[in-house]
Amino acid sequence: MSNSCLFCRIAARELPSAELLDDERVFAFLDINPLRRGHALLVPKHHAAKLEDTSPEDAAALMRATQRLTRALAQATGAPDATVAINNGPAAGQEVAHLHIHIVPRQAGDQAGPIHDLFAQARPRPDPEELNDLAVEVQERLAATVSRGGRA
Ligand code: AMP
Ligand code: ZN
Repeated sequence: MSNSCLFCRIAARELPSAELLDDERVFAFLDINPLRRGHALLVPKHHAAKLEDTSPEDAAALMRATQRLTRALAQATGAPDATVAINNGPAAGQEVAHLHIHIVPRQAGDQAGPIHDLFAQARPRPDPEELNDLAVEVQERLAATVSRGGRA
């Protein structure tokens, strides 16, 4: 854990939070500045800045906890659905450099729209050949990580 990291300190209960879940690997709490009522943040206890920096075990624990929390938040808020998102790195808008999954409860017709609205401007539709070239490039890089035991 890093002494200077805000979310490490929250997960260690050195700083206060509206705590939701605390288990061996993950910690969840309500966002202090919620986008919607029930906006929750879920973090690994072991510090990692981005999703690809966290261990496979922590990544699995995060996904399991995301399922449990999303269900419990829906029941507690009455909002049936949720936007589940990671601002994964500063270029994607991440402000706190400790991996966190946002779970934002969503009501039908709440006007916020899908995450596609983030990119509403400047979105030319690529041709199928361009999509295919990029898919092949990613497949090759995934194949290279399999040969290194699945780690990036
Ligand atoms: P991001 O832009 O993805 O890094 O999001 C950081 C989130 O952390 C924002 O939604 C903030 O409102 C939230 N946040 C910052 N400080 C705290 C805190 N002390 N307790 C709870 N949430 C926080
Ligand atoms: Zn941290």
